[in-house]
Amino acid sequence: TRESQVAVVVAAMGETTDLLLQAATIAADGEFEKAQRLAVRVGDQALENAKGSVATEQLKASLSDHVADLSRLLQGISLLRESSPQTIDEILSHGERISAVVLAAILKGEGLEAVFVDARDWVRTDDSFGQAQVDFVTTQNQLEALKESWADAIPINTGFLGRSADGKTTTLGRNGSDYTATLVAQILGASEVQFWADLPGVMTADPQLVSDAYPLRTMSYMEAVELANYGGRIFHPRTMMPLMESRIPLRILNCKDPEDSGTLASRGAAAHPPWPR
Ligand code: ASP
Ligand code: MG
Repeated sequence: TRESQVAVVVAAMGETTDLLLQAATIAADGEFEKAQRLAVRVGDQALENAKGSVATEQLKASLSDHVADLSRLLQGISLLRESSPQTIDEILSHGERISAVVLAAILKGEGLEAVFVDARDWVRTDDSFGQAQVDFVTTQNQLEALKESWADAIPINTGFLGRSADGKTTTLGRNGSDYTATLVAQILGASEVQFWADLPGVMTADPQLVSDAYPLRTMSYMEAVELANYGGRIFHPRTMMPLMESRIPLRILNCKDPEDSGTLASRGAAAHPPWPR
């Protein structure tokens, strides 16, 4: 079916990752209740985002499980007055997992077949918590094996997350879901990767700082990396690696204007319109 040809990768919603980091810091100061309120807020915001669709009892139960797990982790931190990078990765993983659970529920509510995929089940990394390095060969083998279980459903993968050889949760570094998406594309042999954000493609500058910043139509992978650092959108530093190896084009699209063709980044293409250097 057409659905089976799409693979989705999600990041945590909105400010979730920052809220969870903040909760860990507050817990390490011994303020468990204040930290827990942030975890509850993350759960409430997720439910709010699912509203209007069928916010089922099952989704509500799953979100409260996430909040309960987060509370336990935050309580551990507040008892020890210490949050290690390993614990932080475990806490942050809930952001992407919540997102994928919500999106899968929304799609099912629309009558589509969707399946939640925990990327920890296929992304193998070392144990540099907070900036884990991907073991590509194991990751590729695990994804190729796992994809058989999806059948015709649309897989909704958690971005950003991995798992070390001894089973610990890791994260790939801020904005890491970009990198997860390009890894999926390379391993599954996608014809195109699409990044959806709430900015008009890749801009020549940060539109919040420069009023005449404009979106580019085409660019090379390298220009995308370079400009993403100046523009409003920042990619994970390793995002383009899987694309450079596989030559899969990347389209950067705007959720607020889904009909717009956005910015197409590909091998060898130069920025158009040209931008001043
Ligand atoms: N949620 C993570 C972050 O905020 C990963 C991502 O958004 O791609 O950095
Ligand atoms: Mg991001």
